[in-house]
Amino acid sequence: MADGAGTILRETLRIRLRALGFDAVRFARAEPAFGDGLNAWLSDGNQADMTWLERGAAKRGDPALVLPGVRTIIMLGVNYGMADKPAEATPRWARYAQYSDYHDTIAAALVEAGAVLEEVGGIGPADHRHYVDTGPVLERGWAARAGLGFTGKNAMLISREFGNWLFLACVLTRLDLPPDAPLPGKPPEATGTHAGQLCGKCTRCIDACPTKAFTAPGVIDARLCVSYQTIENKGIIPRELRAGIGNRIYGCDTCLEVCPWNRFAQASREILVTARPEIARLSLAEVLELTPASFAVIFKKTAVKRVKLAGLLRNACIVAGNIGASECVEALAELAATGVPLVRAHAVWALARLGQRERLQALFSAETDSAVLAEYAAENLCAGADMSARAVIS
Ligand code: SF4
Ligand code: SF4
Repeated sequence: MADGAGTILRETLRIRLRALGFDAVRFARAEPAFGDGLNAWLSDGNQADMTWLERGAAKRGDPALVLPGVRTIIMLGVNYGMADKPAEATPRWARYAQYSDYHDTIAAALVEAGAVLEEVGGIGPADHRHYVDTGPVLERGWAARAGLGFTGKNAMLISREFGNWLFLACVLTRLDLPPDAPLPGKPPEATGTHAGQLCGKCTRCIDACPTKAFTAPGVIDARLCVSYQTIENKGIIPRELRAGIGNRIYGCDTCLEVCPWNRFAQASREILVTARPEIARLSLAEVLELTPASFAVIFKKTAVKRVKLAGLLRNACIVAGNIGASECVEALAELAATGVPLVRAHAVWALARLGQRERLQALFSAETDSAVLAEYAAENLCAGADMSARAVIS
């Protein structure tokens, strides 16, 4: 496409896509540019059990494997900045969890974006594909390539307009459009290997990480990360990481919150996301007393559904143990007696932190699950018991 016509088409699309609710709309030339950093990160095992990252590695390195004939990647950002800094409440929720599930709302807008491309660009439905977060596309890398921001030492995409608070989505298209320029500095990379383009000497994110999950600037070992452990890990959270979780019940924003680039953050327009302030108002005791029915109602259409009730109760037990929530002892004892094994195991840990050894010794006599028994054993609460005869492999 001739440069002038391409530029007019690109700017028309930028206006139309912004009108759909996308706050940042940037264009990159699709080429097999990325992948080495990702492969190194994967071969080091940093992805923990997120094996879907390995399965899509080849496609992540070459967008033509995702959409043959692709010429342009349109990177889209949705600002989820808050008008006021969230209060330091306990329990603490990642900011994105305090909104409606962006996957759903942005996916609907991406369908509309596809219709805009067809109308304005004269292409067909087979000439574009879109993803929000879960596709085989290195969204952060392409966003940096398109100049939407840069990859910080915290491994996040940092925008000079919105700080650290952007949801990313992308549209791959066969439309040939002139690319936007990346930000000045070192060449943007897909993963953290050259992260920190505009960080300067700052290392606040790395220093603030509660579990020391950074192995290098821009490289996070997911196995040590609170976000991974409280959201992606569906099983027992390693005992040695529990203290570092502190009062974080779902996700962790610490390495985002401390970033000085957030001085440019703006309040969300809330066109494609809707604030759910009631979530942050839940007390820890209220979370520990959730039932399947109340969980379904309160977290309907939010990302928190992803951890399911058992995962959230597991996390709440850890917070209770960490902050010494004595007002939660009864709820924890109930969970240690009647919860599913995953929850019972963490309730035992929390009750031990709260000094409830006698109560735990009483509960121990009825326990048969091997994972829960391991928690009793780690707390020296089963002296003399024949563990091999008790354990039922669950
Ligand atoms: S999300 Fe939290 S735990 Fe994970 S790297 Fe950032 S600060 Fe560390
Ligand atoms: S906190 Fe500092 S080092 Fe970390 S991403 Fe922000 S500017 Fe870069």
